[in-house]
Amino acid sequence: MAELVFFSGTMDCGKSTLALQMDHNHRARGRGGVRFSCNDRAGDSTISSRLGLQTDAVEVEDHTDFWDEVVVRRTSGLRVDYLICDEAQFYSPLQVEQLARVVDEMDVDVFAFGITSDFRTRLFPGSQRLIELADRVQVLQVEALCWCGRRATQNARTLNGIMVVEGEQVMVGDVAPTDDAPFAGVVGYETLCRRHYMRRVTAHGANLMAGADQPLPFDIDACLWPGAGELHRQ
Ligand SMILES: [Zn+2]
Repeated sequence: MAELVFFSGTMDCGKSTLALQMDHNHRARGRGGVRFSCNDRAGDSTISSRLGLQTDAVEVEDHTDFWDEVVVRRTSGLRVDYLICDEAQFYSPLQVEQLARVVDEMDVDVFAFGITSDFRTRLFPGSQRLIELADRVQVLQVEALCWCGRRATQNARTLNGIMVVEGEQVMVGDVAPTDDAPFAGVVGYETLCRRHYMRRVTAHGANLMAGADQPLPFDIDACLWPGAGELHRQ
């Protein structure tokens, strides 16, 4: 019986690596699949992992209909047993519903990979719909770490190195100034523990404070995980 599975986690927890590994495993067993991605860091029509693996994928656009994507391939004689859906947080709720229908009515396994919440700690609409509809939600066990060594559960956005909590939900490139948004700059992302997210202390900010001979606004050592800096945990 086919399944809709949502593999979730923060950035840097190895989702794309797992997506590529799963594709490989199913292909090696003679199954046919289609890889999809959306706004991958390496560019359109690509799934890339931080470990350096990269392969081609079908780019998911606003008008993409997953039901049609499967029907078109099967009609032309291609085998479609499963879909790999990377960066699924960027899919629309409607597209997630199409994925569920593909599972139920065409017996196609759907393995979706995505981060759950945005830089404001709010669920992405696509991830929310996946959590609502998936047969299984699997939280990835490779944990991203905050600079302090704790488990990172939040995705922070930085603009020119400064953490921001307002802006468009989806922003994958650097921004140019417009009349509506006068702030231009280099957009970055960093995983933080909830404590440092709430205090808005990124690695850059922590370094600045550690290098300053001024009293800190809070006791930074008290925030440290035992053994922080060794980058491993019990
Ligand atoms: Zn932290």
